[in-house]
Amino acid sequence: MTKKIFRSILLAAVSVLLASLVIIMGCLYDYYRNVQEKQLRDELRLASYGVEAGGSGYLEQLASPYRFASVADCRLTWIAADGKVLFDTHVPAAEMENHSDRVEIREALAEGESEGVRYSQTLTERTLYCAQRLSDGTVLRISISQLTVFALAMGMLQPILLTAIIAAILSALLAHRMAKSIVAPLDRLDLDRPLENDAYEELSPLLGRIHQQHRQIEAQLRELGRKTEEFEQITENMGEGLVLLDGKGVVLSINPAARTIFHADSACVGQEFLVIDRDHTINLAVQTALERGHSEVRAVRNDREYQFDISQITADGAAAGTVLLAFDVTEQAAAERSRREFTANVSHELKTPLQSIMGSAELLENGLVKQEDVPQFVGVIRTEAARLVTLVEDIIHLSQLDEGIAPAKEQVNLLELADSAVSALRERAEERHIGLSVSGENLMVDGVRSFLYEMLYNLIDNAIKYNIDGGRVELSVSAGDTGITVSVKDTGIGIPPEYQARVFERFFRVDKSRSKASGGTGLGLSIVKHIAQYHHAEIKLHSGNGRGTIIEILFAIGEM
Ligand code: ADP
Repeated sequence: MTKKIFRSILLAAVSVLLASLVIIMGCLYDYYRNVQEKQLRDELRLASYGVEAGGSGYLEQLASPYRFASVADCRLTWIAADGKVLFDTHVPAAEMENHSDRVEIREALAEGESEGVRYSQTLTERTLYCAQRLSDGTVLRISISQLTVFALAMGMLQPILLTAIIAAILSALLAHRMAKSIVAPLDRLDLDRPLENDAYEELSPLLGRIHQQHRQIEAQLRELGRKTEEFEQITENMGEGLVLLDGKGVVLSINPAARTIFHADSACVGQEFLVIDRDHTINLAVQTALERGHSEVRAVRNDREYQFDISQITADGAAAGTVLLAFDVTEQAAAERSRREFTANVSHELKTPLQSIMGSAELLENGLVKQEDVPQFVGVIRTEAARLVTLVEDIIHLSQLDEGIAPAKEQVNLLELADSAVSALRERAEERHIGLSVSGENLMVDGVRSFLYEMLYNLIDNAIKYNIDGGRVELSVSAGDTGITVSVKDTGIGIPPEYQARVFERFFRVDKSRSKASGGTGLGLSIVKHIAQYHHAEIKLHSGNGRGTIIEILFAIGEM
């Protein structure tokens, strides 16, 4: 800005200087010419008196070149009425041609006097002349040559240039100082407090607008800060991971949940997402979302399975970035897996007894079974059909528990319930000479009677099934510091330690043939686990190969 002001002032000063020079020179020249013309006329009048009084004698007295006091290089010519030159102060009259065709002579003869200007061929010189008719009819002409303005200017070029250079230097110095002094108050402007400046009155509207804009910006910044805080508060407390990426995949924001998933710290903001998660699966999904609008991918991080939902963010109709949301779907994925496995297992478990029933029925139908073997085949059909019924019942129970369909809870006496379950199975125990006993206190839990009965029934049933002939099964109901415990203890084959965690899985059996032979479905302990979970009860298993088994169900106080 200083430079521009400096240049403008300098240009104005130099222009004014040049214009002044031209105008002054023009005026001076004009004034000088008027003075000269007047003097020329005065000189002619004087000379006319002299010639009228003294004739050519007067003229001869004048030395050549003729000099008047104030008019330099004047030339006097006396011409007869027929145009013959009678006398000339510069050239002998005899050498001069007839002047009758000269305009000024003709005009002077006709009108008494005449004036005019003639330019030289080079236009560098001009001749002023005046002619006057004398009383005897002759004409006296006076002329003077002078330089034209152009020639005069050219003649004065050196001083003019010198003056112009000095003036230009002075103008430059002044312009520099002026530009600095104009700009200095602008440099001192305090734009943080625009209204407190009093630099130039003309700046008041501008400073007023700046002040207004300051207030608007401050308000917008406050609003932005509030929104950022709101956004951070929401995302900080979110269980799902959230990452905002720009169009180049650079992290703009990442919440604590996402930082945990990707093992990143807050310093990762500003870095490319590829640096945070080197696996191409998610990066490719980000790219796809950026191009197509949305993408989903599942991946395991920190031994947990996550679903990553990535959506494009648009600004002014163009893709500006992506937002990545990470949901922990470990449990959901496990449930999906177990549902798939369950369906496959159910099909298999249903198919086996059905095939056996069909095989026996076909043999009977075709008369391929001897009469004495018929009861045995019919027995197979009955056993397998019974297994099918049990299996279907167990599946129905399990799916009811899965769906969370349950009757209302009530106060249930566990000792009474244990007694009735034992009674139901006593016959089966006696077949194998297994002794059954129930001991303990009348303790109440809040629960679903039918579920709790089924749980105890399954546990006692297993304790009989996997027992040795002549063994024992002991049930006890007791109260401790932590809650009420129902324990089912047997003297059976036991469960090897490596299978203890798996016996609660659906369809898992340690010895499949033994389970089948005793009518097992592989679902009994899964149902026990579900019922225990439903009652917030804990299951403890103590067993070993050939050492019998103790299964305890602990109902925590206040948890039911
Ligand atoms: P099943 O219908 O085969 O009995 P369960 O789910 O009730 O299925 O039990 C799963 C497996 O756990 C059984 O097949 C058996 O191998 C083992 N098991 C369960 N209870 C006992 C027990 N009291 N003693 C020894 N093994 C047992």
